[in-house]
Amino acid sequence: MKKVAVFPGSFDPFTRGHEGIIRRALSLFDEIIIAVGVNALKKNFYSLETRKEMISKVFENEPRIIVDQYEGLTVDFCINNGAAFLLRGLRTAADFEFERAIGQVNKAMAPGIESVFLLTVPEHSFINSSIVRDIIKNGGDASRFVPAAINLKDYKGIED
Ligand code: ADP
Repeated sequence: MKKVAVFPGSFDPFTRGHEGIIRRALSLFDEIIIAVGVNALKKNFYSLETRKEMISKVFENEPRIIVDQYEGLTVDFCINNGAAFLLRGLRTAADFEFERAIGQVNKAMAPGIESVFLLTVPEHSFINSSIVRDIIKNGGDASRFVPAAINLKDYKGIED
């Protein structure tokens, strides 16, 4: 059976940290669905379409990666898409505590889905979308924190 994993997140924006986890996970799974969560209550800097466009650009030559969006429970999205694995990245002890709670709740709700955690490489462990967003909003150069394929000048954020 095809091993399908979902990598959920807000990806506002997608960073080298996210990219690193996904590229490494390609040796574990046949297909990875990068699922951008739609949360009407959360104010995002980049629109949903822009975030999906950026991610698609990074993996345009990788047919085993699919970029999609979802609303509602992540485990429901996994079940509806035939994914038995939920992929997450871990940077710090704080990430671990957060992921442990979500992972255990997900396991209780959907016992057939396994969460798989990959530790980030040290050089990506300080990269975080909210800091990258702040650099961009303040006119700084954040290019070294996002995948090489993303040219930030091509994308406009929503000013607030
Ligand atoms: P969320 O809103 O779910 O936290 P994010 O877009 O911030 O979504 O992150 C999605 C996933 O990527 C999470 O598992 C997060 O821990 C992981 N992640 C974020 N930044 C990094 C990084 N620099 N290195 C490795 N994993 C990361």
